[in-house]
Amino acid sequence: DSLIYLDNAATTPMSAVAISAMTKVMQETHGNPSSIHGHGRQAGKLLREARQELAQLLETKPQHIFFTSGGTEGNNTAIIGYCLRHQEQGKHIITTAIEHHAVLETIDYLVQHFGFEVTIIQPKNQEITAQQIQEALRKDTILVSTMFANNETGNLLPIAEIGQILKQHPAAYHVDAVQAIGKIPIHPEELGIDFLTASAHKFHGPKGIGFLYASSMDFDSYLHGGDQEQKKRAGTENLAAIVGMVAALKEDLEKQEEHFQHIQNLETVFLAELEGIQYYLNRGQHHLPYVLNIGFSSQKNDLLLLRLDLAGISISTGSACTAGIVQSSHVLEAMYGANSERLKESVRISLSPENTVEDLHTLAKTLKEIIGG
Ligand code: PLP
Repeated sequence: DSLIYLDNAATTPMSAVAISAMTKVMQETHGNPSSIHGHGRQAGKLLREARQELAQLLETKPQHIFFTSGGTEGNNTAIIGYCLRHQEQGKHIITTAIEHHAVLETIDYLVQHFGFEVTIIQPKNQEITAQQIQEALRKDTILVSTMFANNETGNLLPIAEIGQILKQHPAAYHVDAVQAIGKIPIHPEELGIDFLTASAHKFHGPKGIGFLYASSMDFDSYLHGGDQEQKKRAGTENLAAIVGMVAALKEDLEKQEEHFQHIQNLETVFLAELEGIQYYLNRGQHHLPYVLNIGFSSQKNDLLLLRLDLAGISISTGSACTAGIVQSSHVLEAMYGANSERLKESVRISLSPENTVEDLHTLAKTLKEIIGG
């Protein structure tokens, strides 16, 4: 039908290669990878191959990959698993005000229940700088956690620079790369990252599966009761989803440059078609083209969202939506202040390679009709 999906930062449709790789596993391999019989060995072989392939894509070794249920679990595992293990060395954590709740609320849990202290870096001129991180470092800082790319604005953080700074400090570096992986090449070892979180459903893989890259075994297990994942993540592996995830990432990385250019072109076409109506973009200088956080003067975002929805176009406000009520964005608040009109006017359009110029043309046309430009 004519429905247009422009909410790819929330989740992406699965790719054909991921669906077929997953289906094959579900049809042909039902053994438990931990079982020692033939069926188990067959499953174990697929699991090893998937881990090996993923490690190659990240230019690391298979023992650094831990399969999880997705971004939320990866962030919780890295932050809680590392900080509780190292709390004797210090109880200070540094993060940024624009992180996903899966990082902010996890750190807050450590603050509320385990006596940790957190420094939350606020963006300056819409950006987080490596210098801000450097200035916040203390003797007792044990973890720095920053995202790679922001899910609401597409803003890129200076990961390599922060990684470089942390080479001179014992604090570990955790990076929530959920919105960046598959869109740009990411090699955690080269970047000086100790923990990297990824989630398959953001790069055309299945939902409920992801991975955590960890540079060492120096973190506590979050789930207990099984020897899987080098005893760091108990529970029978979701083999079909793991195989589907790796197939999806491999394809996205093979086509990465082509996709990037296509997305950039979609953005250019869309913004050119908006000529004549007043809009502003919410983002810093360094950003991915995949997310377009845009506001239209005097247009309430919740109403705009609804009217686009009625026209068959799915976009988002970018902020959490609890029980159907749109909450204002903590990311835009950090960037522009709590009183900014941008908080009430901005919407998030997030793109994927499946989107066409025609989709963006329809969006621009519909927006113009709604806004009356
Ligand atoms: N981190 C970021 C930056 C995200 O955008 C998301 C998803 O919205 C998550 C973490 C959570 O990932 P998952 O849905 O796999 O738990």
